[in-house]
Amino acid sequence: MGGARFRAIMVSKVETGQEAKLTDLSTDDLMDGDVVVGVSHSTVNYKDGLALTGKAPVVRRWPMIPGIDFAGVVEASADTRWQPGDRVLLNGYGLGETHFGGYAQKARVKGEWLVPIPSNLGAAEAMAIGTAGYTAMLAVLALEAHAVLPVSGPVLVTGAAGGVGSVAIALLSRLGYRVIAATGRRNEEAYLKELGAAEIIDRAELSGDVRPLAKERWSGAIDSVGSRTLANVLAGTAYGGTVAACGLAQGLDLPGSVAPFILRGVTLAGIDSVMAPMPRRLKAWERLATDLDLGKLAAMTRTIPLAGVLDAAPEILAGQVRGRLVVDVTA
Ligand code: NDP
Repeated sequence: MGGARFRAIMVSKVETGQEAKLTDLSTDDLMDGDVVVGVSHSTVNYKDGLALTGKAPVVRRWPMIPGIDFAGVVEASADTRWQPGDRVLLNGYGLGETHFGGYAQKARVKGEWLVPIPSNLGAAEAMAIGTAGYTAMLAVLALEAHAVLPVSGPVLVTGAAGGVGSVAIALLSRLGYRVIAATGRRNEEAYLKELGAAEIIDRAELSGDVRPLAKERWSGAIDSVGSRTLANVLAGTAYGGTVAACGLAQGLDLPGSVAPFILRGVTLAGIDSVMAPMPRRLKAWERLATDLDLGKLAAMTRTIPLAGVLDAAPEILAGQVRGRLVVDVTA
């Protein structure tokens, strides 16, 4: 029992379902891995909200330290790729689902999961981007790969005031795209324009009944909402356009038709951040380091202490969190 002690949030099964609470652990309690990281920051993503509340079966090993991402400094490494003092981040690979996650002051993980923090970013900035921002970049890369370029026409971002949405708007506008932002929070119009949205539409326009085809309004889209919204987004996509689908804030279903695919040659590009291959991760982080306006990143970010994630979880599921929530796990 000689391991160093540290604070963590742990979710456990109880008779009534599950319970998340702040606890004190030792490095001896950590799971297997070849690199020990002193974690300084994590974040609250939508999926963290699901894991902390148990609203969806994100946690698949009990008890679990949730937190699907972290940033910190290597303290010890049996992996030759990493040395003590290296600044690293981690997204996905089952972190916070099957492997102890980011809501802890220490983590022991596989060296092959780690990504170096880009040299121009601090650990807090890396987590202001976090899984949501890295996913937004994966979606931008998908649009580019399908030749949706600034000259192609406007790009729609749904779930605009959320984490993925906010970073997507900042990235796309910096790259020269005309961004249409769909939001249910009309009071956030000034915020969304500040991030770079040229036009704001009410999400109610997209969340209702689905028509097979609608007026062609955007050449591409980044959708974090799914369900009827994604079906309507596809129906409104211009000939040859691409929609990058990464989320399910409205629902997991997709109640649309094949009309956009077979009559307009529209592409539906799936985005997964968890098991994305390492070269794509490195590319995404390299592009985030150069293409994201750090002033805008700061404007969309709020920092909370470790214990604050317990209150933040239901808030993010209720769509009440604007932009990104960084967790200072040392506080
Ligand atoms: P947020 O909660 O920050 O953003 C989601 C946004 O969606 C909300 O802010 C809100 O935007 C909108 N929204 C919420 N509920 C509804 C609804 N019922 N109908 C329509 N719009 C709604 O979450 P994140 O940005 O962290 O994640 C967004 C989605 O992307 C989640 O579903 C998440 O699971 C998914 N995701 C997937 C990843 C992957 O690997 N594929 C990785 C990261 C995230 P507004 O108020 O502006 O309308």
